[in-house]
Amino acid sequence: MAETDIRPTNFIRQIIDKDLQAGLHKQIHTRFPPEPNGYLHIGHAKSICLNFGIAQDYQGTCNLRFDDTNPDKEDIDYVNSIKNDVHWLGFEWEGDARYSSNYFDQLHAYATELIEKGLAYVDFSTQEAMREMRGTLTQPGQNSPYRDTTVEQNLVEFKKMTAGEYAEGQCVLRAKIDMTSAFMCMRDPVIYRVKFAHHHQTGDKWCVYPMYDFTHCISDAIEGITHSLCTLEFQDNRRLYDWVIDNIDIQSQPRQYEFSRLNLEYTVLSKRKLIQLVEEDYVHGWDDPRMPTIAGLRRRGYTPDSVREFCKRIGVTKMDNMVEMGMLEACIREDLNENANRAMAVLSPVKVVIENYPADQVEELTAANHPNDEGKGTRSIPFTQEVLIEADDFREQANKKFKRLVLGKEVRLRNAYVIKAERVEKNAEGEVTTIYCSYDPDTLGKDPADGRKVKGVIHWVSASKAVPAEIRLYDRLFTTPNPAAEENFVDCINPDSLIVKNGWVEPSLLDAQINQTVQFERTGYFCKDKDSNESKLVFNRTVGLRDTWAKIGD
Ligand code: ATP
Ligand code: MG
Repeated sequence: MAETDIRPTNFIRQIIDKDLQAGLHKQIHTRFPPEPNGYLHIGHAKSICLNFGIAQDYQGTCNLRFDDTNPDKEDIDYVNSIKNDVHWLGFEWEGDARYSSNYFDQLHAYATELIEKGLAYVDFSTQEAMREMRGTLTQPGQNSPYRDTTVEQNLVEFKKMTAGEYAEGQCVLRAKIDMTSAFMCMRDPVIYRVKFAHHHQTGDKWCVYPMYDFTHCISDAIEGITHSLCTLEFQDNRRLYDWVIDNIDIQSQPRQYEFSRLNLEYTVLSKRKLIQLVEEDYVHGWDDPRMPTIAGLRRRGYTPDSVREFCKRIGVTKMDNMVEMGMLEACIREDLNENANRAMAVLSPVKVVIENYPADQVEELTAANHPNDEGKGTRSIPFTQEVLIEADDFREQANKKFKRLVLGKEVRLRNAYVIKAERVEKNAEGEVTTIYCSYDPDTLGKDPADGRKVKGVIHWVSASKAVPAEIRLYDRLFTTPNPAAEENFVDCINPDSLIVKNGWVEPSLLDAQINQTVQFERTGYFCKDKDSNESKLVFNRTVGLRDTWAKIGD
């Protein structure tokens, strides 16, 4: 596709350029740190392209690190789907995938170091008491009665916590920072908690787990990450990030930088909400083509190129904004316009009988796979006396603007002959069931000999040779641009987000690969779904031929 090939610049790359000039680093080292508690979505793709893209462009490296400090919500299936999605996007992480849980021993030792330095204490206050002592944005917090426990006693208590002698919620380990700080995250944050849970990597080894803020910065330091890129909601937490690194004995000094998360219109990009859509069956699984997950986009027919191009076009800033769905769709449309083979499919058919064509004849016509790319070759399409066209492409009467088939007039069947509608047959409801036509045998690949002008071209398939296909027409999943702002986002799910048509496709599509996308001429781009089998094909609409989302002066 026509990728914008200028290397993107953004405030993070400018910081890196400066750091390199100042000789702060020899090599740039980034990481992508998903929590394996859901599938990756298009917002994660932004972070992946940023982190892996920087590593590529600066000849550095990027780690994949599972931020797995929350065993209750995490799962090995999520780990596998995330690896698969990063690879699919075209990126390779440095060495083996890492896990924060790889560092549980070290993290525990650093927590002990903080206790020894008088910078952490075990707090037995109830959760309610802790909440009250925390203060508010306008009021300072109060010191816990456990804040002045001696170092020796804290070491004993932390050992007991670790040995499983305290129940969940009975106590926590807190960093001793400042209960009056303007930053809530600095008011003696919890850094370890008791949790009797089986962990997908460490099994039953631990019953205490480190908290995210304590884990992330240390994991970055252990891995020698130079630039730790995260989204804006961690801006305040940067104080805590730096405090931990400054107060433990560790060599490396990673720095955290924040950028704005991607918000996309007509969808939600919060894992909690996406899980709800899956678990409450609003969609058919994580890879439902309506989902903004990488798996959903892939099944919808998006290519890795198109997703990367989208991430390039949206850029990286500190400004919160909402990106139009049309922007994502433009990327896949441009890609497929250039790269997808053409084919013909009829979604809502009506039968055409060509009375002057031999009833038992099957003619193999040749059609180009792509109008602008001869290299994509040709395919053969069977032509027979009976063909199917879209019911919409026929009218008994119409004005000149209607460039399709009209009773008594001519139209070209794409890649085939010119036909003329002679008469129709209708059912009891008055709907046209069959259109009887004649054809001009001398119009294959050329205009009528006597100079008759035939302007319209419509698509068709052979009635006897076409293959039945379930065609899934997907639309936006929500009816409002910002469903997350609604009181209950599931209330604005679009009831017409999936419409199933039982259509017909040309037989060449039996050979299409699963996940291959083709353009159904005049209709849109469609991707062959994994639900296809030998007797029935299934196609998902990736995107229409034109932007139907554009805001037309409303
Ligand atoms: P959610 O809030 O949906 O649960 P998360 O931020 O908790 O998402 P993580 O698995 O922790 O999900 O995210 C891994 C990385 O991807 C983080 O660095 C995070 O900042 C980034 N990320 C997540 N969502 C977005 C988004 N919408 N836009 C850009 N980056 C994102
Ligand atoms: Mg997170």
